Amino acid sequence: MTPFTKPLFFLISFFWIVSSSAQHETYSNEGRQEISDTTFVNLRDYSNDFIYDMKYATEDNFLKAKVYDCAECLLRLKTVKALIAANNDFNKKGYKIKLYDCYRPLSIQKKMWEIVSNPEYVADPKKGSIHNRGGAVDISLVDINGKEVDMGTPFDFFGIRASHNYTMLSNEVKSNRKYLKKIMIKNGFNSFDSEWWHYNLKAGLKDNVSNQKWKCN
Ligand SMILES: [Zn+2]
Repeated sequence: MTPFTKPLFFLISFFWIVSSSAQHETYSNEGRQEISDTTFVNLRDYSNDFIYDMKYATEDNFLKAKVYDCAECLLRLKTVKALIAANNDFNKKGYKIKLYDCYRPLSIQKKMWEIVSNPEYVADPKKGSIHNRGGAVDISLVDINGKEVDMGTPFDFFGIRASHNYTMLSNEVKSNRKYLKKIMIKNGFNSFDSEWWHYNLKAGLKDNVSNQKWKCN
């Protein structure tokens, strides 16, 4: 390379890298504006194939209080994309994802920590949970008849039976949990040992915690 072409080569490489990373951060869909992968979006605007059982929008949760104004699933766009890909895999076998929780404002995390100050079950709000970052979901599966798949414990069961490492469960329950985990991991999520329902998007672990309210219709 001559002394003249070398800087030119680097300049071209630089623009190629910048433009290709810009492509990764945008998401195009017909009639929809291109937005960044880290933007918070409502899952309902991207798919109608999920079952909603948003426990914190009811009093049926360990807080015994309705802490969300409405039963919506807000997540960063990249989490939504990975979740839809996982749901498509489940759909092929006749299952659907049932949602218990998605993005969770930091103020709610603080309330949870006051009640259950055990990091095995609730993240310390000082560190923030991946739910506060828009990268975590609490989910289960329903079958083709809308019947909930047996996962051995209810959602938010704070005990050893909810752990992936607990083996004193029926073969059916163990295989259901294993199937949920296999498909979620295939689609870019990590499991969490003490809660069979909790999944973190691997690419979302370092996003900022957020404390926002979302619009309810
Ligand atoms: Zn969770």
